[in-house]
Amino acid sequence: TSIASEHAVPSELRSFLSSPKQLLINGRWVNAQSGKTFDVFDPATDDVIAQAAEGNSADIDAAVVAARAAFDEGPWSKMTASERSRLIWKIGDLIEENADQLAQLETLDNGKPFAVAKAADVALAADMFRYMAGWATKIEGNTIPLNVPYAPGSEFHAYTLKEPIGVVGQIIPWNFPLLMAAWKLGPALATGCTIVLKPAEQTPLSAIRLGELVTEAGIPDGVVNIVTGFGETAGAALASHDDVDKIAFTGSTEVGKLIIGAATGNLKKVTLELGGKSPNVIYDDADIDTAVAGAADAIFFNQGQVCSAGSRLYIQSGIYDEVVAGVSEIASNMKVGSGFDPSTQMGPLVSREQFERVSGYLQAGLDAGAEAAAGGAALDRNGYFVQPTVLKNATPEMSVVREEIFGPVVAAMPFENDNELKAHANDSSYGLAAGIWTRDISKAHRLAKAVKAGTVWINCYSIFDAALPFGGYKQSGWGREMGHAALENYLQTKSVCVNL
Ligand code: NAD
Repeated sequence: TSIASEHAVPSELRSFLSSPKQLLINGRWVNAQSGKTFDVFDPATDDVIAQAAEGNSADIDAAVVAARAAFDEGPWSKMTASERSRLIWKIGDLIEENADQLAQLETLDNGKPFAVAKAADVALAADMFRYMAGWATKIEGNTIPLNVPYAPGSEFHAYTLKEPIGVVGQIIPWNFPLLMAAWKLGPALATGCTIVLKPAEQTPLSAIRLGELVTEAGIPDGVVNIVTGFGETAGAALASHDDVDKIAFTGSTEVGKLIIGAATGNLKKVTLELGGKSPNVIYDDADIDTAVAGAADAIFFNQGQVCSAGSRLYIQSGIYDEVVAGVSEIASNMKVGSGFDPSTQMGPLVSREQFERVSGYLQAGLDAGAEAAAGGAALDRNGYFVQPTVLKNATPEMSVVREEIFGPVVAAMPFENDNELKAHANDSSYGLAAGIWTRDISKAHRLAKAVKAGTVWINCYSIFDAALPFGGYKQSGWGREMGHAALENYLQTKSVCVNL
C-alpha cells in the first residue's frame, strides 16, 4: 500500500466553512436554540474543519411546526404538480452547476476520492432530483368498477386519490452524505410532502450546502428543514415526534430497530434502509479478470463503507487461489490517501469511531484464524486510514463473515457446488444485495432467483440508478428507495365511492 500526500483545505471552500453552519428552519438559517455546536472533522487529517449547530428536540419541534405549516397552508401544497416538478428539476440543475464544490465538500467531510464524489455521489444526486421531478406530474389514482353484493341495482362511481403522507422525518448516514439526502428528498418533494432532514453528525456539510441550493431553487419556506445534530438527541426526537407522519431512516440495523420503537407513539409510517453482508459469487466459468476487478471494486468502493458492499466473496474452489491472488494484488497496489490527491484510489474511513470499529474487526478475524492475503492492519499515519484487506481461511461462524464491518475488508471463501453455495449465500440475517459472476446465463438467473436479496448484480456490482428500486430483504430494511417504488413510501391512497 502506498500513501498519497496530505492536503490543505481547498481555498474555494474556506469562506463556506468559516461561517457558522446553522440549521435551516422555515427558510431561515438559525443557531440551535441551546446555542451549542459540534466539531466537524477532516477524516484524512483528524483536523477540525467546521462547527455545526447541535440541534436537539427543541429545534426538531420548531422544524416540525414549520413543516406542518408549509404542508397545511401552502404555497407548496397548493402548487400544481407541474410547478412542483419545475422546482425539483431546478435543484438538479443547481447541483450540477455546483458539482465541483459539492464534491470537494464530500471529499473533505467524508474522505472519499474527489473524482468518485463528482462522478458518483454528485452526478447521481442531480439525476435523482431530475428523475423524481418527472414523476411529480405522473402520480395518479385509478377508477375502480364496483360490484357490491348487498346493494343490488345501485350504481357506483369509485376512484382512488394518491395524496402526500404529510410531514416526513428523514435520518441519513455518513457514507454518501449528499446522495442519501437526494434519495430521501427527491421522492418526498415529488409527492408534495414537507420534510425535516437530519444529516449524520459525522458529515453535515454537503446537506447544509444542499439546503442553500434548495432555497435558491425556489422551494418555499418550511418545505425542507435541515436539523444537524446527534442521533440520540435530534434523531430520536424526530423519530418519536407525534406530529411527524412518516420516518425514513438509513443506517445501522441496530438503530433501525430503535426507530421502529420510537415510531409507535403515533404509529407513523416507517421505511428503513439498513445494513448488509452481501455475498459476491464467482463461478469457475466467469471471465476471471473482469470478476477479480469487480470483486475488488465491490468491497473497496467508498472505503468499503457501502451497505451493499460485496463483503462475503464466494469463489468456486478450482479458481479460489487465482481469484484470491488477483484481488489481493489489486488491494496491495491500491493507493490509499487523501481524497484530494488525484492518484488516490481509497481514502480514509469517515471517523475515529469507524476506524476503531474496523480495526477491531480486523483483529478479531485474525485472532479467530483468518489469514490476511493482503492488508490486515491500520496505516501508521494521521487520519483514519486502514489497508484494503483480503481475508482467507475465513469460516462461517467468524464475526468477519457474519457481521457488517463497513470497511475495506472482504472474507474470501471457497465453494464446491450450487447447493452448498446457496446455503452459504443465504446464511445471513441481512438481505440487501448479491453479486454473481459467470458466463452461464441460466445459472446466473437461477441463482438470482434463489438468493434472498433486494438487488442482484450479474457480471457487475454497485450499479445504482435513480430508476432502479433498492432496498432490503430480511433485516436489511423495509420498503424500497428509488424508482417508482419510492413514491409509495410518501403517498396514501384514499378511496372515494359515489352513489350515482
Ligand atoms: P447509525 O445507524 O448510528 O447512524 C445513522 C444515522 O442515524 C445518523 O444520522 C445518526 O445520527 C442517526 N441515529 C443514531 N442513533 C439514533 C437514534 N437513537 N435515533 C434516531 N437517529 C439515530 O450508524 P453509525 O453509528 O454511524 O454507524 C454504525 C454502523 O452502522 C456502521 O459501521 C455500519 O455497519 C452501519 N451503517 C450502515 C449504513 C447503511 O447505509 N446501511 C450507513 C451507515 C452506517
